[in-house]
Amino acid sequence: MFKAILIEKDDAGYRAAMRDVDDAQLPAGDVTVRVSHSTLNYKDALAITGKGPVVRKFPMVPGIDLAGVVEHSAHPAYQPGDAVLLNGWGVGEVHWGGLAQKARLNGDWLIPLPGAFTPQQAMAIGTAGYTAMLCVLALEKQGVRPADGEILVTGAAGGVGSVAVALLARLGYTVVAVTGRPHDAEYLRRLGAAEVLDRAQFAAPGKPLGKERWAGAVDVVGSHVLANVCATTRYRGVVTACGLAAGMDLPATVAPFILRGVTLVGIDSVMCPRADRLQAWQRLATDLDLARLGDIGRTVGLAEALPLAQQLLDGQVRGRIVVDVNQ
Ligand code: NDP
Repeated sequence: MFKAILIEKDDAGYRAAMRDVDDAQLPAGDVTVRVSHSTLNYKDALAITGKGPVVRKFPMVPGIDLAGVVEHSAHPAYQPGDAVLLNGWGVGEVHWGGLAQKARLNGDWLIPLPGAFTPQQAMAIGTAGYTAMLCVLALEKQGVRPADGEILVTGAAGGVGSVAVALLARLGYTVVAVTGRPHDAEYLRRLGAAEVLDRAQFAAPGKPLGKERWAGAVDVVGSHVLANVCATTRYRGVVTACGLAAGMDLPATVAPFILRGVTLVGIDSVMCPRADRLQAWQRLATDLDLARLGDIGRTVGLAEALPLAQQLLDGQVRGRIVVDVNQ
């Protein structure tokens, strides 16, 4: 038996609770992992609360991230005792995920835990941090360099935003952070933000074009915020869009794209090819100041993930939540 958060949906409704689960109930897979840490991402919070259509099979163990040690493997790349990491691939959505003491997975989804990180540190980064790295890599691929000007990060005090601020600042970019939590301005400055702006400036419907300011942007928020970010991005600037914290809509015009040559790059972490994942984790190992992770992430026990899910959706969780599944 092992402990897991289990989401069930039936005539009695949608509910998530701590359960003791029999190993025999684990789904099919060629690698069994003894999970040590998982995390609480925005998507996990949607799954646990049922506030978004994340879970597509019931019962489901949520948790799109996990770190742990291989217990059994029929996959040629993994041996018992190997330290591994997993992000995405539909885990926690259609296949049982990481918010449990054990997981059985397709070995092709795993990557070796980078030597630079403990399992706790890898989960303090998690899908949120790996997505932030994908955004930074996309800016670089489009030719954005520190000398080009300011980079805007929205939803900056959240998981993706916090890691994006820390990474960009370490790489020498001038980072402007947007937050709805002015009391976290000092936290964002510690991570490396040169300036902190109030989210209210971006949240209302804006004009098709505004004063040009950003050489690049990382947007986790969507909706009017993303539209306003595009409208104020400089000629040939680059905006990466990875989130929908304010909404799935994009009430924008084509003006920034056809008059200023702005590039909007979509970022997906879930089905991201293996080579790009390995590159992102390798860059995280060299470009993220590990000292910042202590500030960004805090660790909780498995049961605490349940009430924290609603708080995260309410925008009350700063940085990242690491879940020690044995605590
Ligand atoms: P968090 O909840 O940690 O951060 C989201 C942040 O967005 C909040 O902290 C808050 O920042 C801001 N925010 C929340 N609500 C609103 C609102 N109504 N209007 C404007 N800003 C708001 O989530 P994550 O960082 O884990 O994820 C952020 C987004 O990125 C989510 O939408 C998530 O689904 C998406 N995502 C996408 C991935 C992909 O593969 N494309 C991978 C990972 C995440 P503040 O208080 O500073 O304003």
